[in-house]
Amino acid sequence: MSISHFIKSFTLFELWKGLAVTGSHLFQRKITVQYPEEYTPMSPRFRGLHAQRRYPNGEERCIACKLCEAICPAMAITIESEQRDDGTRRTTRYDIDMTKCIFCGFCEEACPVDAIVETHVFEYHGEKRGDLLYTKEMLLANGDMYEKEIAAARAKDAKYR
Ligand code: SF4
Ligand code: SF4
Repeated sequence: MSISHFIKSFTLFELWKGLAVTGSHLFQRKITVQYPEEYTPMSPRFRGLHAQRRYPNGEERCIACKLCEAICPAMAITIESEQRDDGTRRTTRYDIDMTKCIFCGFCEEACPVDAIVETHVFEYHGEKRGDLLYTKEMLLANGDMYEKEIAAARAKDAKYR
């Protein structure tokens, strides 16, 4: 063992060096965010929980064209559809498996009627595997709940197009 190594060991040099780093940060501005009381800033381009939108008259926007299903790289979307008596087509099943979704946003880009969108909501969870399989009813409920925010975000986006 060299002399310098012996002196460093004997005086606990490495320990004091570490404590000096701790001490130098002790009185600095705290950067830890106390989530969930505090939030970090969110990008306007953040892609979160999906929602299915309706028109103001309550009619669902989705026309079951299946473009979103075709473009989804994770194959997370499953659609079944049928023709109504009035000749229009609507989905009878629209599922998104959130355990597969990679939040790429391709589905909302592909949608010709602005039906499927991604909200800024990230605070959702599932306790069982099936909880993250979002059905048409769940997606429409999301749309109903966040329509105001979605419409405002869409209007803002349109300004920059
Ligand atoms: S965000 Fe991407 S991965 Fe998720 S459902 Fe849409 S297209 Fe599929
Ligand atoms: S959500 Fe849009 S892209 Fe997907 S099936 Fe409905 S209308 Fe077509």
